[in-house]
Parts: sequence; structure tokens; C-alpha cells
Amino acid sequence: MAKNNFTLLLTFCLTLLLIGCISTTAPRYAIDKHTYQAQGKNERIHFIVLHYTVGNNERSSKTLTTGNVSAHYLILNNDDHKIYNLVPDYERAWHAGAGGFAGRTVLNDTSIGIEIVNDGIAPQYRDALKNGALDYHPAEHYVEFSEIQIKKVAQLVQELAKKYNVAPTNIIGHSDMAPSRKIDPGAKFPWQRLYKEYGIGAWYDEFDKQFFMNQDEFAAATIPDIKQAFRDYGYQINDSDEWDKASRNVIYAFQLHFRPQQPTGVMDLETYAILKALNKKYGD
Ligand SMILES: [Zn+2]
Repeated sequence: MAKNNFTLLLTFCLTLLLIGCISTTAPRYAIDKHTYQAQGKNERIHFIVLHYTVGNNERSSKTLTTGNVSAHYLILNNDDHKIYNLVPDYERAWHAGAGGFAGRTVLNDTSIGIEIVNDGIAPQYRDALKNGALDYHPAEHYVEFSEIQIKKVAQLVQELAKKYNVAPTNIIGHSDMAPSRKIDPGAKFPWQRLYKEYGIGAWYDEFDKQFFMNQDEFAAATIPDIKQAFRDYGYQINDSDEWDKASRNVIYAFQLHFRPQQPTGVMDLETYAILKALNKKYGD
């Protein structure tokens, strides 16, 4: 019996050894990254989305590093000469949420998010919409960004837009992609200056705007026509034939971006002329 057991044990050990040998001598296959190269591919990143944090440096950095929200980059409100990278560009940050722009939804998948430390609506105006006297915050309710922040944002967006070949019209505010939920980066974010001084994002030509101001088109344009013009630019807007709240939110978001000195949420000739001028310049 003892001998049989020994033989059994020996066989068992030899088998284990054999299995071990097989697994350690199995070939490792090299990954060849050079012989075949596909043409059918594109960048993950199609959008750059700008935000303000509604909080100071300490609170913003804590929220964005420990909570369920994040962004790729954080611009603090001080002169530390740094731009903070919290999430690698190739990974998803959780900054955009529900919404869409330019035919795409789930923008967390396809964008870089940049958070700028800023109070948003000044504390004394935070309750201004509550009694129903105002539908939307006017420009003076928003807090200015500092000069250093603007310079940091300009450098960062310039670099990212070039690196990922982001279309000018896809450099947007959070409010552009989620007009019924968000109003950041707000009326004090200097889109026009970024365009003129740094070549960042989209802006209309004044000549075109004046041209459309002088046409009779606006008086004749139906609500569905105007909504289609918003859609042509990239905004998501419903197809009801009235300016319901959701549709006015889109007008407000558009004005925050392209006529920030007078965001009203009401369609008017100048807003229409700017929209038409943008579509003329950037449309297909
Ligand atoms: Zn935001």
C-alpha cells in the first residue's frame, strides 16, 4: 500500500511539474504596432467644455478630486503659475452630464473639461430668480474672471484645440450643451476676447451681423425657422412652435456665449442676426 501511495504521489508531482513546464514555456506574442496601420480612426476628443466651479480654490479642488464630479483641468484663482491636470486627457472626466451639441450626446466621452474657479452668480443675486420677477440673470449678476485665469485658459485651450484638432464651434460652455440645467461659464466669460486675441473658438463677423440686422428676414422668420438655425449651429432645441421655457433656455445660453452683455432669454433681431452670421461663417 505504502509503495502504491508513493507511486501515486510521484506521478502527481511529475504531472504538476509538467503543467508548470508547459505554462512557463508557452510563447509570449509580441504586439507589432508598426507593420499594419489603419486609416479608419479618429480622436476621442471632439469638444472642449468650459465651466466655472461656484466655489473658492479650496472647495473647488476638494470637490473635483474627492467627489463624483471631476474635470481634466482646474484653473485656480491665484497666481501660482500653474494649470492643474486632474484627469489624463485620454480618460473620461465627469464634468458634462446630460445634454448634447453638434449631433453628439454623452459629451463626457468626447470632450475635455476645464473648470475655472469663480463664484458664478454673485452671492447677493443668488435668490434673484426666486420671486419670479426675473426669468434669467442679467450680465451684472455674474462675477468677473481674473486676468491671470483668462491667460491660463487661453494657453490651455489653444494647446488642446491644436493637439486634438477641435473645431472652433466645438469649443463651448457647459450652458451650450445643457441649456436647461447650466449657465456656466456665464456672461463674464470673454469668448470674444479669446477669439480676437488668441484665435480660440468661434465668433461672427461684424459685417455679416450688420447685413442680417438690415434684412427683413427676422420679421418673416417663423419660430420653427429660427429653431432650425439654432440646430444648424449645434444646439439641441425642441420642435414645438413656441418659445417655451426649454427653448428660451437655449436662447439664453446662446446669448451668454455670443451676446453676453445682454442675455435675456428673449429672441430679438440682434440675436437672430448673430445666429445667422455664425451659420454663414461656420455652416456647411
Ligand atoms: Zn459646468
